[in-house]
Amino acid sequence: MANSFEIGPIRPPSEAYSLLIRATINCPWNRCKFCPTYKGEKFRLRSVDEIKQDIKTAKIIQDKIKKISWEYGYGGRVKEIAGMLLNNPVNESFYNVALWLYAGGENAFLQDANTLIMRTNELAEVIRFLKETLPSINRITSYARSKTAAKKKPQELIELRDAGLSRLHIGLESGYDPVLQYMDKGVTAADHIIGGRRVVESGISLCEYVVLGLGGKEMWRQHATETARVLNEIDPDFIRVRTLAVNNKMPLYSEVENGNFIRATDEEILEEEKLLIEHLECHSNYVSDHITNLLQEIEGKLPQDKGKMLTCIDRFQALSSEERANFRIGRRVGIYSRLDDIYDLHKHQVVEQVTHKLSQGRNEVDEETIHALTGRFIG
Ligand code: SF4
Repeated sequence: MANSFEIGPIRPPSEAYSLLIRATINCPWNRCKFCPTYKGEKFRLRSVDEIKQDIKTAKIIQDKIKKISWEYGYGGRVKEIAGMLLNNPVNESFYNVALWLYAGGENAFLQDANTLIMRTNELAEVIRFLKETLPSINRITSYARSKTAAKKKPQELIELRDAGLSRLHIGLESGYDPVLQYMDKGVTAADHIIGGRRVVESGISLCEYVVLGLGGKEMWRQHATETARVLNEIDPDFIRVRTLAVNNKMPLYSEVENGNFIRATDEEILEEEKLLIEHLECHSNYVSDHITNLLQEIEGKLPQDKGKMLTCIDRFQALSSEERANFRIGRRVGIYSRLDDIYDLHKHQVVEQVTHKLSQGRNEVDEETIHALTGRFIG
């Protein structure tokens, strides 16, 4: 009897405890210069039967965990058993089901990069089957591309919502066409607006991802203002920001190496984020849930929290240059998680020691080293 099912490489941070069902394999576009995730891997659709088989396997694993719960005297309650299995899982599928059950068994995420590319009736069938087979699930989300969303008829998105699709996560990255073109995103700002609006109007919740720093040193201003303009037009439920980090698994790496793309510094990116927030006039929740962001506490509900969010940036910018440098190092080596941590004497001293070591006694870490440290945070 099968005891494992397909699991893809990524899911959004907000889906960390979701059951992962791989509806398609890899990315049908796969050309974005800043994205390492599926490079070298071929995209393929999966048949509805194949996906259903994986859902059935997830149910078998769930039932096994329930059975163990009865055997161990927990009366069918799964949380305790799931917690134990997390320490010693049989395989990745058991781990995922145990984690999902541990968190309440309510959320599922359909992988990989663009599930909307499936035929609408087939995707709706998969979603319905998932809910019928695992009835504790009440929230199903997935990744999608704007271009694909823009190609769906409004009625098709409504059909998916009615089947049970709760939220789509779309990589907007930028609202500025020259940045989108340079990064080979394969969509325009206009596509983003059409696709995003179509999702919002269907009643499916929408989360748009923005990459801070994607305009580099040259296009940061337009990247900020045009991204704000596009987001204002879409008015998604969530805006999630992450900061550009470059590693050698992505095509952008050679562009950086040969000098075609000049990365902005952390401080310049913060200025860009300030401009972005100043120009946002939508009603979204602004979320900064990514380790690459210098100030993860910049979060809030727009428009009412805009002042509070900008104050976070002002506080950082008001620090002395030595303290700003100390904070940047502390963030990039994982010692600080928020700005107030700089006032923790012990942490501050550890960061001073790290700085001393990284700079070989000069007590000033160069930008290249900071970029390299940030690059370690991504796969
Ligand atoms: S960013 Fe998204 S669309 Fe672009 S290559 Fe990566 S997974 Fe595919």
